[in-house]
Amino acid sequence: TAYLQGADAPASAALLERAREVIPGGVNSPVRAFRSVGGTPRFMVRGQGPWMWDADGTRYVDLVCSWGPMILGHADPDVLRAVIEAASSGFSFGTPTEREVLLAEELVRRIGPLDRVRLVSSGTEATMSAIRLARGFTGRSVVVKFAGCYHGHVDALLASAGSGVATFGLPDSPGVPASAAGETIVLPYNDVPAVEAVFAERGQQIAAVITEAAAGNMGVVPPAPGFTDALRRITSAHGALLISDEVMTGFRCSSTGWLGLEGIPAGGAPDLFTFGKVMGGGFPAAAFGGRADVMAMLAPEGPVYQAGTLSGNPVAAAAGLTTLQKCTDEVYARLAAVSDTLTAAVEESFTRHGIPHRIQRAGSMFSVFFREGEVVNYDDARDQHFERFGRFFHAMLRRGVHLPPSSFEAWFLSAAHDDEAVEHTVQAIAESAAEIA
Ligand code: PMP
Repeated sequence: TAYLQGADAPASAALLERAREVIPGGVNSPVRAFRSVGGTPRFMVRGQGPWMWDADGTRYVDLVCSWGPMILGHADPDVLRAVIEAASSGFSFGTPTEREVLLAEELVRRIGPLDRVRLVSSGTEATMSAIRLARGFTGRSVVVKFAGCYHGHVDALLASAGSGVATFGLPDSPGVPASAAGETIVLPYNDVPAVEAVFAERGQQIAAVITEAAAGNMGVVPPAPGFTDALRRITSAHGALLISDEVMTGFRCSSTGWLGLEGIPAGGAPDLFTFGKVMGGGFPAAAFGGRADVMAMLAPEGPVYQAGTLSGNPVAAAAGLTTLQKCTDEVYARLAAVSDTLTAAVEESFTRHGIPHRIQRAGSMFSVFFREGEVVNYDDARDQHFERFGRFFHAMLRRGVHLPPSSFEAWFLSAAHDDEAVEHTVQAIAESAAEIA
């Protein structure tokens, strides 16, 4: 296991050692540290299209795509031009600029139920702000979320403990006060009776239900047919808001997101949406928005405070706008075609070598579970062969394919994944399956 010593990535290993002197764990976001798969995280120096190169000069097919944003591949020439043009006119003003309006218009044009939208800098900020707004609008404090759904590192949303039964949230992380997590109720995903039961008991205290439009942070787990409709019906009946988190799915599952695949729920659209990742084109831009009367509660129109020095940053807005403008039907057709090819390759190779697996999709997003049988919630997703995933991950990495270093993640593709990159990946899948069988 040479990779454990970083022997196959000496430059990255050296950088990690330096990084650890000044950055906790050497990384600025924990999953980058390869904790669950072991080995040396690769320090990247360059990306072009579907490829990226690490500090040792090793080339990889990128199936992380920055965890979603790089839907056009790396250094897309049109996005690059837009970024340079925007940056040439100044980086940030702290005043309104036209580019923010253009990006907001593009979001509102694509997402039917979006009346108003506010730009922020990360998905975490978007969900945090949406929760505050929902609490301000309803005058209630309790939030319902689902186990296995990740909405960023917001105090109230880090709770994910408890499964199978309705339970009060317990903080998942030290530093999250019990008071914050205590206002969060965590329920099993796809469990309508659990939602009904909790609303029957505490419906008057619940400000909002927040859900991943289609879960992507426990692997890809789409809502069961009727689940989103039920959330809409139950929240409406009790005067609570429904927040659809499309940070990961937005502009990736389809030209809108999960909404475009499933359609508007019976009973009406979610009240609020959150977006991030693709809409920033690799730069820090995210958004929350929805019903005009709810958004009117936001300062300066209303009393709910929310702000940001870099919100609507012109360079990020230029990258996001150009990325969205380039997200045409052909882009989604390409993503779907590559998803078809890669899922077929996994299916074929894993079956041939008797490796238990389950592939789930939400439009052009998919993930591979190292287990058999349908995955409908977090308990199912946690019942996987993690050790085998780690071996598969490293088998792929040694063959020049960089998967997300976690079996709870989608395999992120881009429209720039051309035939060469796809064939390279298919070959790596076949060889890696043989190796780990
Ligand atoms: N919501 C969802 C559904 C996400 O997938 C993520 C990030 N993976 C977030 C929110 C948080 O976004 P960010 O990392 O930009 O804060």
